[in-house]
Amino acid sequence: MNVPDDKESPKSSNFLRQVIERDLEQGSYAQRHWGGSPGDAAHQQAGPLDPARIRTRFPPEPNGYLHVGHAKSICLNFGLARDYGGVCHMRFDDTNPEKEDLEFVNSILDAVKWLGFGWDANGTSHLYQASDYFDFMYRAAEYLIEAGLAYVDEQSAEAMRENRGDFNTAGTNSPYRSRSIDENLQRFRDMRDGKFADGAAVLRAKIDMASPNINLRDPAIYRIRTATHHNTGDKWCIYPMYTYAHPIEDALENITHSICTLEFEDQRPFYDWLLDRLGEGGLTNQPHPRQYEFARLNLTYVITSKRKLKQLVEEQHVSGWDDPRMPTIVGLRRRGYTPESIQLFAERIGVTKSDSWIDYSTLEAALRDDLDPKAPRAMAVLDPVKLVITNWGDLMGGEDVLDTCSAPLHPHNPEAGRREFQFGAELWIERTDYEEVPPKGYNRLYPGNKVRLKYGHVVTCTGATKDAKGNVTVVHAELVPDTKSGTPGASAIKVKGVITWVAVADALKAEVRLYDRLFAVPQPDTTDKDFLEELNPSSLKVVQGYVEPSLASAKGDDRFQFERHGYFVADRKDHAQGKPVFNRVAGMKDSWGK
Ligand code: ATP
Ligand code: MG
Repeated sequence: MNVPDDKESPKSSNFLRQVIERDLEQGSYAQRHWGGSPGDAAHQQAGPLDPARIRTRFPPEPNGYLHVGHAKSICLNFGLARDYGGVCHMRFDDTNPEKEDLEFVNSILDAVKWLGFGWDANGTSHLYQASDYFDFMYRAAEYLIEAGLAYVDEQSAEAMRENRGDFNTAGTNSPYRSRSIDENLQRFRDMRDGKFADGAAVLRAKIDMASPNINLRDPAIYRIRTATHHNTGDKWCIYPMYTYAHPIEDALENITHSICTLEFEDQRPFYDWLLDRLGEGGLTNQPHPRQYEFARLNLTYVITSKRKLKQLVEEQHVSGWDDPRMPTIVGLRRRGYTPESIQLFAERIGVTKSDSWIDYSTLEAALRDDLDPKAPRAMAVLDPVKLVITNWGDLMGGEDVLDTCSAPLHPHNPEAGRREFQFGAELWIERTDYEEVPPKGYNRLYPGNKVRLKYGHVVTCTGATKDAKGNVTVVHAELVPDTKSGTPGASAIKVKGVITWVAVADALKAEVRLYDRLFAVPQPDTTDKDFLEELNPSSLKVVQGYVEPSLASAKGDDRFQFERHGYFVADRKDHAQGKPVFNRVAGMKDSWGK
């Protein structure tokens, strides 16, 4: 259990924090006992008072890689538990007997840990899987039958749909609704024992077929599905429905605040109905958890549907789940996002009760705000053209003479130290830093103009050579003596333009991957158009550039600010010393759409 950290800046309030603060103030859950592990009412009540002031949970289905929307939910659930002296449970919601993929399970655990959270508290690992609760769920179903609160329905799926009614029409009772308790119990056991075919019967809660909330019109709680479950094998051929399983999972785990997305709002009355009934029957601990809904995250220029992300991977529109353009957590990580930047993003977008789109630039702004104070600086030239200093040999006593220059690793943090690099007769500069005929307001290299090569010397541009097609091949300039940065009198000559560079003598060749938005439209997949047609065709541009020699020791995941260019990371898969590969995380400023 974590104690709230007073030194931390106060978190902005939101409706969930208000609910929790009110519950803590009123002691809503203060008398709850905890048996040390999930279990029924008797198990919990045999334990001491729950040491966790609140319990939340993050309950993914292990059927895909987590994305930025899940990151919001992780930051919210684990963050609230951390801030209020609680515990957040990591729960795999594996009640569907689909084949569970160990790859997904491991990637989910990795993602949560990487984001900075964990499930160990009070000496216990709170890592659970919902399928461990199947026995209890079955017992609870028999209890409901015995209490006259559930029945086996053998209507066809079609008849059931028809008899449910709709928003304007009340439903019609099933002809099977009035069977005796004993008969229902026998039928349910027959379901369990495989005496029915898949789909031939369901167990339904007996509530009210005329309820204005269609979810209360006798919802199905168990279905027949002859399938092998990764955890329970062939023990079961009946499986609980999600709407039945989820409240029970929460109750067995002593969850206090069960936070989910808005589409479950209509399910809340059933959540409460079920836990009220099981509580009355003495099956689950009291007071029971409460469900709260918040708006799911929609982020512009990406999609957050697991199924469609899978399609992008399978049809090879991206290089894999961890393609740096993917909004998956592994993708964001490889792109260069930090856990802190994602936490900051989640904090800034907050939680609301109405759906909206968050602009992708909000995520990039969080990254910049996180990296700006800590990322070491470096110079890089991404679209190189050679600059030759024509008077270098004469002034320096030889064409090959090099002059050591240096720059702070971080401009606001002198303790971080300095980096060194050479200045020589030949440098790499950006192609766009030379213009034969300068547009209005252009202060960089053009014939006759003086420019400072950052951390180096001032030069006067004298022109350029071009190839047969008119492309500039070499830019020429003359060194202005006594202008070296950091030497006395260096600023006597005033210049308007400062450009970045690296020396041909010591620069490192590097592959630089310039990533852009995955989709070309802000709200992909919201029209009739196939979302694949909305992919941004230029979401990746690979260039061969040059970086300063201080990057020779960069390791995968090391992040830098390339001066003028933005934030870059050494690719965690492909980067190697001697064969550097950098990914652009984000540009220096928000330039999208400008
Ligand atoms: P599926 O369609 O496969 O059910 P899902 O996105 O609901 O996908 P889950 O694994 O069930 O995935 O989600 C785990 C948790 O993450 C849930 O509590 C869910 O509410 C939350 N979550 C999922 N997507 C988002 C999102 N876009 N924004 C916020 N929370 C989300
Ligand atoms: Mg889901």
